[in-house]
Amino acid sequence: MTLQNVLPWIIRAHKEGWAVGAFNANTMEQAQAIALAAQAENAPAIIQISHRALTYIGSGNEIRGLQYIAAIGKVAAESVSAPVSLHLDHGSERDVLQALALGFTSVMFDGDGYPFDENIAITKKLCEAAHSVNACMEAEVGEVPKPDGKELNHANIELTDPDEAARFAEMTGVDILAIALGSVHGMKSKEVSLDLNRLETIRAKVSQPLVLHGSSGVSDVDIKQGVSLGLAKVNVATQMSAAFTGGIRDVLSKDGDVVDPRKYLTVGRENQVAAVRERIRFLGANGKA
Ligand SMILES: [Zn+2]
Repeated sequence: MTLQNVLPWIIRAHKEGWAVGAFNANTMEQAQAIALAAQAENAPAIIQISHRALTYIGSGNEIRGLQYIAAIGKVAAESVSAPVSLHLDHGSERDVLQALALGFTSVMFDGDGYPFDENIAITKKLCEAAHSVNACMEAEVGEVPKPDGKELNHANIELTDPDEAARFAEMTGVDILAIALGSVHGMKSKEVSLDLNRLETIRAKVSQPLVLHGSSGVSDVDIKQGVSLGLAKVNVATQMSAAFTGGIRDVLSKDGDVVDPRKYLTVGRENQVAAVRERIRFLGANGKA
């Protein structure tokens, strides 16, 4: 299939209590793994690209990175019959517009550095741009922190204020809204819990489907609860890279003489297919294509 806007599946998931997985890709093999897993599970899925992945893929040039990944995502989606979307995560205003021009079917604007009213104004404008090319628009209220190796002070996490979320969702017309419930980006083990009471309050005030960032560090019990309470897009990054790199590490540690990159990248890709399939089933998206 051509790249799809999977918003109709996210809306259905929101009503029915399951979630569409958004899986990060940093390499071509990781993008392929997501499409192959969607196909194997007959599920909608999202290939998600972070800002740092763009910089990497573009060898330091983000726009070049967007061009590369737009081409890779397009071919990955067209090679399977399940609905696959290509999503820019935490984009700047410029990157969001560029991604839309290159055929991304989903974008997130991160207005974290802007005052609330300016964030609303830019998000609203970007919503119109996204909708004019039938793409899904995501934005965030509150902040899911990125510790970047620094120690995280859990007391400083800025959780989403329900009234602010309601005002933002209504004034911007975003399709889906990312909220901060206590999760943290880039965690390698599942040790944080979500503020599920806050989620219930937000769900009652916001009609749009809600998005969980940083799920790799959240206990599965809490993710499942959260999904039943309205989290209809769940982002998974670190867990996927762990699976991919784990496969490569296995090959290289068993055979110190290997030089052909296909030998280890194949295993990395296979490992990630298995990991994405596991999360698709966990989120209840299998069979929903
Ligand atoms: Zn995020």
